[in-house]
Amino acid sequence: MAQRNGSSHGEDTPLVVAVLGAGGFIGTHLVEHLLAAGKYAILGIDLTSEKLSGIEGAAFTFYEADIRQAPALLEQLVRRADVVVDLIAYANPSMYVTEPLEVFDLNFVQNLEIAKLCMAHRKRLIQYSSAEVYGKGTEGGAYAEDTSDSVFGPVHKQRWIYAAGKMLLERVLYAQGVAGNLDCTIIRPFNFIGSRIDYLVPAHAIGGPRVFPHFMSALLTGGPLRLVDGGHVRRAFLHVADANTAFQTILDQPEQTRNQIYNVGNPENDLTIREVALLMIDLYEELTGRRPTSEVVDISGEDFYGVGYEDSSRLPPDIAKLRRLGWAPRHDTRTTFREAMAFYLKGVQEHRRPCKLETEIGAVAGAMPARVPRNTP
Ligand code: UDP
Repeated sequence: MAQRNGSSHGEDTPLVVAVLGAGGFIGTHLVEHLLAAGKYAILGIDLTSEKLSGIEGAAFTFYEADIRQAPALLEQLVRRADVVVDLIAYANPSMYVTEPLEVFDLNFVQNLEIAKLCMAHRKRLIQYSSAEVYGKGTEGGAYAEDTSDSVFGPVHKQRWIYAAGKMLLERVLYAQGVAGNLDCTIIRPFNFIGSRIDYLVPAHAIGGPRVFPHFMSALLTGGPLRLVDGGHVRRAFLHVADANTAFQTILDQPEQTRNQIYNVGNPENDLTIREVALLMIDLYEELTGRRPTSEVVDISGEDFYGVGYEDSSRLPPDIAKLRRLGWAPRHDTRTTFREAMAFYLKGVQEHRRPCKLETEIGAVAGAMPARVPRNTP
């Protein structure tokens, strides 16, 4: 088992947390959170530091590298860490149908390599999985980690390679834990929302990132908010600040969380995608004082994502298990969306006019100069 767990060990020795995928949406928020706590040494690695601009501190060392091209660096980071946090994954539904093998390689094969390194060096692993492991949608109440079933579509519906890969990874990690080879906790994120999520897209773009950046881009460009298959499916949205406190709860309780799986979501913020579109239109007007010119339009799942797309009809998290460890989400639906939208609208205001073109959206998304200290392998 890992030698050093919890939030600190020894008087002056900070716990070393390696965040793999530190440059992504969840990773940048975790790094910011750990830096603010002031008691961790943080090692980060990602393909790019673009979203880490302005997130810096003496306790944070960032390596800009691809884990697949830099196995020696990856091993060195695991060796130096007390806790390894694995966020490396594609989370982009259109890729699940257009590049299923690439999704499988990164989300399963490469993640398994990371787990093997943690086993070899006896390090605690906190593995981010996905709410999608619950699959298409089953009857009954909210989904619970230790009692709910998973239902995936047929193999030719390639969308499920993402969820099936995540589920298989969970099963291998769990089996290694039961065998006494790995000290691991698995987190299943349910639709986290916040600043720096995914990327903005040009008006009329299809496929690509998750629903929030699509709708945000539409509002910024005056393009349509597209409801896939009517926007009837339900999702429960969690403010990324609540996701950080959930992570902290798990980090701080290594004994209780060993070889356990936790849903991290907010069942109170459960909306249909149509309701999300209407809420974001309303909030846009509240935040800017202007009614958006965007329309809400329908599109089929296959037209939007490609052949092989299927969807989860609902993803309601049962969070009783993490609540028992002392965690509770604090942000309601309106606050969650308002704060995420304010981040993008502030970017537009700094450019002093509404953005219309793809290049301008890019400029807003990367508005801050890159100041994060970089280390090359
Ligand atoms: N969706 C939509 N319009 C968009 C983007 C997504 O209606 O512009 C739908 C998508 O089909 C799914 C839901 O929004 O039903 C949530 O999709 P997302 O990719 O954000 O999250 P996930 O499906 O992984 O929960």
